[in-house]
Amino acid sequence: MGKALAAVLTAPRTFDMREFPLPEIGREDGILRIEANGLCGTDYDQYLGRAKLGPFGQMPIIPGHETIGWIEKIGADAAQQWQVKEGDRVCVKAPLPCGRCRNCRSGASHRCERHMGYGLFLSTTVAPSLWGGFATHLYLHRDALLKPAPAHIPTDVMTLFNPLSGVVRWIYEIPDLRMAEHVVILGPGQRGILAALTARQAGAKTVTVTGLAQDAHRLALAKKLGADTIVDVSREDLVKRVYETTGGEMADLVLDMSAGSTEPIVQAVDIARQGGRIVLAGLKHGQPVSNLVTDKIVLKELQIMGGFSSTTRSLDVALEILKQRYQDLAEICSHVYPLEEADTAVRALGREIDDGRDVVHVNLNMTKQH
Ligand SMILES: [Zn+2]
Ligand SMILES: [Zn+2]
Repeated sequence: MGKALAAVLTAPRTFDMREFPLPEIGREDGILRIEANGLCGTDYDQYLGRAKLGPFGQMPIIPGHETIGWIEKIGADAAQQWQVKEGDRVCVKAPLPCGRCRNCRSGASHRCERHMGYGLFLSTTVAPSLWGGFATHLYLHRDALLKPAPAHIPTDVMTLFNPLSGVVRWIYEIPDLRMAEHVVILGPGQRGILAALTARQAGAKTVTVTGLAQDAHRLALAKKLGADTIVDVSREDLVKRVYETTGGEMADLVLDMSAGSTEPIVQAVDIARQGGRIVLAGLKHGQPVSNLVTDKIVLKELQIMGGFSSTTRSLDVALEILKQRYQDLAEICSHVYPLEEADTAVRALGREIDDGRDVVHVNLNMTKQH
């Protein structure tokens, strides 16, 4: 029987490389040989031990919820259900929805009440242990959601499938962006940059992306990939800049993609036009928002919506965008590490390491082991 190698998070800031036997599979499940796994801010929060949403963050755990790879073994029923065969390249969505709870039955399986999925949920103490993408293999549970991954898209760009499918949901599905609207994106991380590209692709009239002085490189990438205007909010007056950029019309849609800081939410209310929409897609570690004047929300009749996960439909759209724009997106993929350097990868993402290169998208590439 073969073995899998995994980077196991045993305690905050502590990885241990461990081997696990590859499980026997039946008719309804399978095993993925992992090609790569993309990282996002949630991986850094988990590493610090502060990803404590609901049942998340149980240790020891194999992190990694943005996984691509090849079908290594598959049962007959699973092959039929997923329409894949051994050797196929696929991307794996993080949730493992039950199909039976009230959310699943109403078509919102991304909000499944079972709270089961890859990378953030199941400890290695739950058989067969291989529940995360920081490993050479992933157990394909019968409830896994897979999509074929186009063979010609390079590994590091393909690992953008998860942040991009989130962005598609926060731009198309939740606020229903229409042609010729003014869009402002707060926060120039990988999701902010992908949002600039997606909003431009969707026919936005203007796209503005904000950041701080330390984000100069990310803001430049946002401009290259779709933003008309970039604003350093540590030096510039955002309300004034949005007024100028939109010809006084202000923002139809504001997306908060910033992590940790609550100030952008106050800014969002100030730059939205009358009747505008605001999508909040950045977590703030449970902090309340100070200086928020809710009278402005009432008087402007703003719609404020939360965006967290993505759907299988938003993943379909993300895959189409990746097929069209993969060459442009290569520049976002700044850092690639082998599995053994999982600790360095997560710390690089958290901007703890200064290697002279600006961090945007980080991924672990397992093919570097072989
Ligand atoms: Zn993620
Ligand atoms: Zn469910």
